[in-house]
Amino acid sequence: QTTTKPPPTPSPLRFSKFFQPNMRILVTGGAGFIGSHLVDKLMEDEKNEVIVVDNFFTGSKDNLKRWIGHPRFELRRHEGVTVSVTCLLFVDVTEPLLVEVDKIYHLACPASPIFYKYNAVKTIKTNVIGTLNMLGLAKRVGARILLTSTSEVYGDPLVHPQPESYWGNVNPIGVRSCYDEGKRVAETLMFDYHRQHGIGCPQYSTDAFMISMHFATEIRIARIFNTYGPRMNIDDGRVVSNFIAQSLRDEPLTVQAPGTQTRSFCYVSDMVDGLIRLMEGDNTGPINIGNPGEFTMIELAELVKEVITYSQEAALCLISPKVEIKMVENTPDDPRQRKPDITKAKELLGWEPKVKLRDGLPLMEEDFRLRLGVSKKI
Ligand code: NAD
Ligand code: UDP
Ligand code: UDP
Repeated sequence: QTTTKPPPTPSPLRFSKFFQPNMRILVTGGAGFIGSHLVDKLMEDEKNEVIVVDNFFTGSKDNLKRWIGHPRFELRRHEGVTVSVTCLLFVDVTEPLLVEVDKIYHLACPASPIFYKYNAVKTIKTNVIGTLNMLGLAKRVGARILLTSTSEVYGDPLVHPQPESYWGNVNPIGVRSCYDEGKRVAETLMFDYHRQHGIGCPQYSTDAFMISMHFATEIRIARIFNTYGPRMNIDDGRVVSNFIAQSLRDEPLTVQAPGTQTRSFCYVSDMVDGLIRLMEGDNTGPINIGNPGEFTMIELAELVKEVITYSQEAALCLISPKVEIKMVENTPDDPRQRKPDITKAKELLGWEPKVKLRDGLPLMEEDFRLRLGVSKKI
């Protein structure tokens, strides 16, 4: 089989990788909330070398501070020059990136509505050009690439709970479209690269060795549902971080009207476990990764009051909690319901979440207390 396209320049490290045991893993968006927990987990395996690229828009070097200076960890600049990990460098996935890696976890993209709406055009560029660049990179070096897509691809869903086969109900011109349509295009790009450069489709025939190496684009797509846990930005605007920060600051919990809209919240360690299983397994996806426990925003506010405020007050002889719930205006196109159907994740990945919301909230509370400097009132 021959094609008209000239063969791409083979990456020298593609050869050397066969002679060295370490797995080089790129995590884009690795300084963010989920990305930094993923880095922690990947770094536990001594065979993994982890490279993080991030533009630090919503992420922070603090999230990675335990790895700064570690011999198996690098922050990189996009020219491909290795730099001291203590340097503060800015890497944007909308720029071409030259690194030699075996696997790519592509997370880079702001996830909180207030941040992704802040510069909507940049969000689209990140989703479209950023994913294109990561796919170009994956194709050149023969790396497997996992995209963290989102439950937002289902929009304001008319099917409940949402299976992967549901095509969604998305407003293409709304204020959330930069994110949800951006992720939908990112998924499309993933599958088009897979189909066009997939296994069994060597791009050129002149070099038998290269064909046997399969410069294939092996893809994995996770559709992530709302995730929470330590290291979320305190003022990030998402509902769980807002409610916990508000309750620790003795401020009213701002439930956006009508408050009957639902979400399903997955603790971050479960999420990371699901992402790694997806990457290591044989299925392209898309696969929903999320916790099917479904809560209205009023129920969530009540639970936060009970678990966080009340536990504080309980230590002070069961004085009733003083934190109030305040109904505030909502933003346009807010999905009314969201709950993952995780049949595929269970069957294909052997994955299901372990941490209940009631158990995960106190773990996040601990982290928020430290960062806000609010001690327990005992
Ligand atoms: P986050 O905002 O904490 O992390 C995103 C990271 O990407 C940040 O470190 C940010 O600085 C970086 N980034 C953003 N734009 C970039 C760019 N152009 N170049 C390089 N780096 C860039 O968000 P998160 O909650 O950790 O989400 C991670 C991924 O998971 C995102 O792709 C998001 O869409 C997806 N996701 C998250 C959730 C959730 O509930 N947290 C739900 C669905 C999907
Ligand atoms: N790309 C990259 N790193 C690489 C290889 C490619 O960032 O190691 C980028 C490249 O700049 C291009 C995109 O990925 O914009 C898509 O690359 P591909 O080779 O698929 O497409 P082409 O360059 O042929 O348009
Ligand atoms: N929300 C809320 N109070 C807040 C922030 C958000 O009631 O302070 C609601 C919001 O209207 C939405 C849900 O919580 O229905 C989840 O919002 P979030 O921004 O966390 O994530 P989304 O699922 O919308 O991306």
